[in-house]
Amino acid sequence: MMPKTKDDCIFCKIANGEIPSNSIYEDDNFNVILDLNPANKGHALIIPKVHYQDVYSMDDAFASKVYPLAAKVARVLKGAMHADGINILQNNEEPAGQTVFHFHVHVIPRYMDDDIDMTWTPLESNPDEQEILAKELRAQLMK
Ligand code: 5GP
Ligand code: ZN
Repeated sequence: MMPKTKDDCIFCKIANGEIPSNSIYEDDNFNVILDLNPANKGHALIIPKVHYQDVYSMDDAFASKVYPLAAKVARVLKGAMHADGINILQNNEEPAGQTVFHFHVHVIPRYMDDDIDMTWTPLESNPDEQEILAKELRAQLMK
Protein backbone atom coordinates (compact mmCIF):
# COMPACT_ATOMS: atom_id res chain seq x y z
CA MET A 1 0.00 0.00 0.00
CA MET A 2 1.37 3.39 -1.01
CA PRO A 3 2.03 5.72 1.97
CA LYS A 4 -0.34 8.69 1.99
CA THR A 5 2.56 11.14 2.15
CA LYS A 6 6.30 10.78 2.67
CA ASP A 7 8.04 12.81 5.40
CA ASP A 8 11.11 13.95 3.45
CA CYS A 9 9.32 14.62 0.16
CA ILE A 10 9.05 18.25 -0.98
CA PHE A 11 6.20 17.56 -3.42
CA CYS A 12 4.15 15.85 -0.67
CA LYS A 13 4.53 19.06 1.34
CA ILE A 14 3.79 21.35 -1.63
CA ALA A 15 0.79 19.30 -2.84
CA ASN A 16 -0.73 19.32 0.65
CA GLY A 17 -0.06 23.02 1.26
CA GLU A 18 2.60 22.57 3.99
CA ILE A 19 5.02 24.51 1.77
CA PRO A 20 3.50 27.46 -0.10
CA SER A 21 3.40 27.41 -3.90
CA ASN A 22 1.69 29.25 -6.74
CA SER A 23 -1.23 26.87 -7.03
CA ILE A 24 -3.46 27.21 -10.11
CA TYR A 25 -5.85 24.30 -9.38
CA GLU A 26 -6.66 22.01 -6.46
CA ASP A 27 -9.04 19.13 -5.80
CA ASP A 28 -9.15 16.16 -3.40
CA ASN A 29 -6.43 14.31 -5.32
CA PHE A 30 -4.18 16.90 -6.95
CA ASN A 31 -2.53 20.26 -6.63
CA VAL A 32 -1.42 21.96 -9.84
CA ILE A 33 1.32 24.54 -9.34
CA LEU A 34 3.58 26.76 -11.40
CA ASP A 35 7.08 25.34 -11.84
CA LEU A 36 9.75 27.24 -9.86
CA ASN A 37 12.19 27.08 -12.80
CA PRO A 38 9.86 26.98 -15.81
CA ALA A 39 10.81 25.93 -19.34
CA ASN A 40 8.41 28.66 -20.47
CA LYS A 41 6.08 31.06 -18.65
CA GLY A 42 3.02 29.12 -17.43
CA HIS A 43 4.87 25.77 -17.09
CA ALA A 44 2.66 23.86 -14.66
CA LEU A 45 3.14 20.71 -12.58
CA ILE A 46 0.29 18.34 -11.76
CA ILE A 47 1.14 16.84 -8.38
CA PRO A 48 -0.87 14.09 -6.64
CA LYS A 49 -1.50 14.71 -2.93
CA VAL A 50 -0.59 11.10 -2.15
CA HIS A 51 2.97 9.96 -2.63
CA TYR A 52 3.64 7.90 -5.74
CA GLN A 53 7.33 7.83 -6.58
CA ASP A 54 6.73 7.31 -10.30
CA VAL A 55 4.29 5.90 -12.84
CA TYR A 56 5.21 2.28 -12.04
CA SER A 57 3.82 2.51 -8.53
CA MET A 58 0.54 4.16 -9.51
CA ASP A 59 -2.69 2.15 -9.41
CA ASP A 60 -5.02 2.24 -12.42
CA ALA A 61 -7.85 4.01 -10.59
CA PHE A 62 -5.59 6.92 -9.70
CA ALA A 63 -3.79 6.95 -13.05
CA SER A 64 -7.13 7.31 -14.83
CA LYS A 65 -7.63 10.68 -13.12
CA VAL A 66 -4.34 12.13 -14.35
CA TYR A 67 -4.95 12.62 -18.06
CA PRO A 68 -8.34 14.33 -17.89
CA LEU A 69 -6.73 16.89 -15.57
CA ALA A 70 -3.69 17.23 -17.85
CA ALA A 71 -6.03 17.91 -20.78
CA LYS A 72 -7.97 20.50 -18.76
CA VAL A 73 -4.76 22.30 -17.72
CA ALA A 74 -3.45 22.11 -21.31
CA ARG A 75 -6.62 23.71 -22.69
CA VAL A 76 -6.54 26.55 -20.17
CA LEU A 77 -2.80 27.19 -20.59
CA LYS A 78 -3.12 27.19 -24.37
CA GLY A 79 -5.75 29.91 -24.17
CA ALA A 80 -4.38 31.94 -21.27
CA MET A 81 -0.75 31.89 -22.42
CA HIS A 82 -1.63 32.19 -26.13
CA ALA A 83 0.52 29.13 -26.72
CA ASP A 84 1.05 27.65 -30.18
CA GLY A 85 1.34 24.16 -28.68
CA ILE A 86 1.59 22.28 -25.38
CA ASN A 87 3.91 19.50 -24.19
CA ILE A 88 2.60 17.05 -21.60
CA LEU A 89 5.61 15.30 -20.13
CA GLN A 90 6.23 12.89 -17.28
CA ASN A 91 9.70 11.66 -16.31
CA ASN A 92 10.38 8.34 -14.56
CA GLU A 93 13.81 7.74 -12.97
CA GLU A 94 17.04 9.64 -13.34
CA PRO A 95 18.03 8.63 -16.90
CA ALA A 96 14.65 9.88 -18.08
CA GLY A 97 15.15 13.25 -16.37
CA GLN A 98 13.27 12.77 -13.10
CA THR A 99 14.76 14.99 -10.40
CA VAL A 100 11.91 15.05 -7.88
CA PHE A 101 10.93 11.51 -6.95
CA HIS A 102 7.24 12.14 -6.42
CA PHE A 103 5.18 11.52 -9.58
CA HIS A 104 4.26 14.71 -11.42
CA VAL A 105 3.19 15.74 -14.89
CA HIS A 106 4.64 18.77 -16.68
CA VAL A 107 2.31 20.88 -18.82
CA ILE A 108 4.43 23.28 -20.86
CA PRO A 109 3.25 26.05 -23.19
CA ARG A 110 5.21 26.08 -26.45
CA TYR A 111 5.71 28.71 -29.15
CA MET A 112 6.76 28.51 -32.78
CA ASP A 113 9.99 30.37 -32.10
CA ASP A 114 10.90 29.12 -28.60
CA ASP A 115 14.31 27.60 -27.88
CA ILE A 116 13.23 24.59 -25.82
CA ASP A 117 14.93 21.41 -26.95
CA MET A 118 12.93 18.22 -26.36
CA THR A 119 14.09 16.51 -29.51
CA TRP A 120 16.15 13.39 -30.15
CA THR A 121 18.03 12.11 -33.15
CA PRO A 122 15.78 9.53 -34.83
CA LEU A 123 17.48 6.16 -35.33
CA GLU A 124 17.00 3.90 -38.33
CA SER A 125 14.93 0.82 -37.49
CA ASN A 126 15.42 -2.68 -38.82
CA PRO A 127 12.10 -4.23 -39.97
CA ASP A 128 13.05 -7.79 -38.86
CA GLU A 129 14.25 -6.64 -35.45
CA GLN A 130 11.14 -4.50 -35.03
CA GLU A 131 8.91 -7.47 -35.81
CA ILE A 132 10.69 -9.68 -33.25
CA LEU A 133 10.65 -6.93 -30.63
CA ALA A 134 6.95 -6.25 -31.21
CA LYS A 135 6.18 -9.96 -30.73
CA GLU A 136 8.16 -10.11 -27.47
CA LEU A 137 6.54 -6.99 -26.03
CA ARG A 138 3.09 -8.00 -27.23
CA ALA A 139 3.48 -11.35 -25.44
CA GLN A 140 4.03 -9.48 -22.16
CA LEU A 141 1.46 -6.76 -22.67
CA MET A 142 -1.34 -8.95 -23.97
CA LYS A 143 -1.05 -11.83 -21.47
P1 5GP B 1 11.43 16.43 -13.02
O1 5GP B 1 12.80 16.78 -13.55
O2 5GP B 1 11.52 15.59 -11.77
O3 5GP B 1 10.53 15.82 -14.06
O4 5GP B 1 10.76 17.81 -12.67
C1 5GP B 1 10.90 18.46 -11.45
C2 5GP B 1 10.40 19.86 -11.66
O5 5GP B 1 10.06 20.41 -10.40
C3 5GP B 1 11.41 20.82 -12.28
O6 5GP B 1 10.86 21.40 -13.46
C4 5GP B 1 11.70 21.84 -11.20
O7 5GP B 1 11.89 23.13 -11.72
C5 5GP B 1 10.45 21.76 -10.35
N1 5GP B 1 10.66 22.05 -8.93
C6 5GP B 1 11.59 21.49 -8.13
N2 5GP B 1 11.45 21.95 -6.87
C7 5GP B 1 10.39 22.81 -6.89
C8 5GP B 1 9.77 23.61 -5.89
O8 5GP B 1 10.16 23.62 -4.71
N3 5GP B 1 8.69 24.36 -6.27
C9 5GP B 1 8.23 24.34 -7.55
N4 5GP B 1 7.19 25.12 -7.82
N5 5GP B 1 8.81 23.62 -8.52
C10 5GP B 1 9.87 22.86 -8.20
ZN1 ZN C 1 5.88 12.75 -2.07
